[in-house]
Amino acid sequence: MIYLDNAATTKIDPRVVEAMMPYLTEQYGNAGSLYKLGRDANAAVEKAREQVARFMGAKPEQIIFTSGATEANNTVFAITKPILEQSGKKHIITSAIEHQSVLKPVKNLEDNFGFQVTYVGVPKRYNPFPDGLTDHNLYDTVGLISFMAVNNEIGYSHDVRLIGQVCQKAGALFHTDCVQAAGCRPINVRRIGCDFATISSHKIHGPKGVGALFIKDKEKFEPMIRGGDHQEFGMRGGTENVAGIVGFGKACELAMEHLTIEEIERLEDMKSAFIRRFSEHLAKHGISDEEWNLNGCSRNATKTLNFYVNGVDAESLILLVDASGVCISAGSACNGRENVPSHVLTAIGLTAEQARSSFRVSFSRMNTMLEVCKAAETIAECIAILRGGT
Ligand code: PMP
Repeated sequence: MIYLDNAATTKIDPRVVEAMMPYLTEQYGNAGSLYKLGRDANAAVEKAREQVARFMGAKPEQIIFTSGATEANNTVFAITKPILEQSGKKHIITSAIEHQSVLKPVKNLEDNFGFQVTYVGVPKRYNPFPDGLTDHNLYDTVGLISFMAVNNEIGYSHDVRLIGQVCQKAGALFHTDCVQAAGCRPINVRRIGCDFATISSHKIHGPKGVGALFIKDKEKFEPMIRGGDHQEFGMRGGTENVAGIVGFGKACELAMEHLTIEEIERLEDMKSAFIRRFSEHLAKHGISDEEWNLNGCSRNATKTLNFYVNGVDAESLILLVDASGVCISAGSACNGRENVPSHVLTAIGLTAEQARSSFRVSFSRMNTMLEVCKAAETIAECIAILRGGT
C-alpha cells in the first residue's frame, strides 16, 4: 500500500509504540495517585509535557494536554468568550479556510452570543498579509484573531509571524492552528507571538486522541472542562491519557530530530516529482495540462497538494485508486463522507462541481520517492479510465 493521506492522519512511528507500551501494560497508574505507580505515571506525563513544549518553543507550564486539536481549538473560543464579553471586544477575525473545529465555535459565538466575525478570504495570488487585517479601524473592537499556519486541504500557509505582530499592535489575542505545520516546519510560539497554538499527535506519527493547547498566560482564563482541579493545572479536567501523552511526547521529539534541512528539501522534492510525473502520465493518456490544475498556491514546507481534474468524480477516483493500493483523499477527511463541496475549495474560487472533481495527496517523512512516482502514475491511469480513455 502507498499511503498519501498524511494530512488526514499518519502512521504511528514504531519508536512511539515502544515508548507507549509500558503505560498500556504494567505502568497503568493514575497520574494523580500518591503511590509510586501513580507518581511514575505523573513523571511520564511531565516528561512528555517538556518534549511537547520544546517542540513548540514554549514553557512546559504553558502546555495543556487535550483529546486532540478539535478540543484544543474549541477550548480557545470557550475560554476567551467571557474575557471578550467583559472587555467589549466582541469582534473576531479569522480566515474562511480554517478547520471546522475553529469555524464552528466561531459561528456559535456569532449566531448565539452577539459576536461580530470577519472571515478573511484567500487572495488569488499569494499575499502574506491577509486583506481583512489591513483595516486598522477595526482594532478597537477586535478581541481575537485566529489564523491557521497551514491549511489541511490545499497546504496554503498564512504568515503567522506577520499576523502575530498585527495582533500585538492591535491588542488582540492571537490563536493559530499549527496542526498541519507540525512536522513540516519548525514551530516557535514565541517567534510567532501568539497567545494560543494547537497541535495534534496523530498528524506527526503519534497516537490518535491526544493533542496540545499552548496557552501563553493560562492564569487569565477559566477552564472549559471542569472537575479536575489537579489535572492539567486545573485547566482541563479528566484522568490523563498517560500512554497517549507519552506517545505524543515521543512523536514530538522524533519530529524535531527529523526536521533537518535535508528532510524539508526531500519533502519539496517529493511534491515536485509528484506533479511532474502526474503531468507526464496524464499527457501520455491524452489529457493535456489545460484539463487539470493545482488548487491554491503551493508553499514550501507543507505536506499537501490538491488537484482539480476536469470531468472526474473525486469519490470514484479515490475508490479506484484504493483498489490499486494507493490511499488519497477527496478533501478533508472530516468532510470525507458528506457530499458537500469543501468550504476551502469554494473559498478559493472553485465551483461546487470543480470541488467535487478535486483530490488531495499529502506526504510524510515515511514516504519514499519511488512510492510517490508510482502513485502519480497510478492516479493518472485511474483518471484516464474514469474519463473513458485507455
Ligand atoms: N485542525 C486542522 C488544521 C486539522 O487538519 C485537524 C485534523 N483534520 C484538526 C484541527 C483536528 O485535529 P484532531 O483530529 O486532533 O481533532
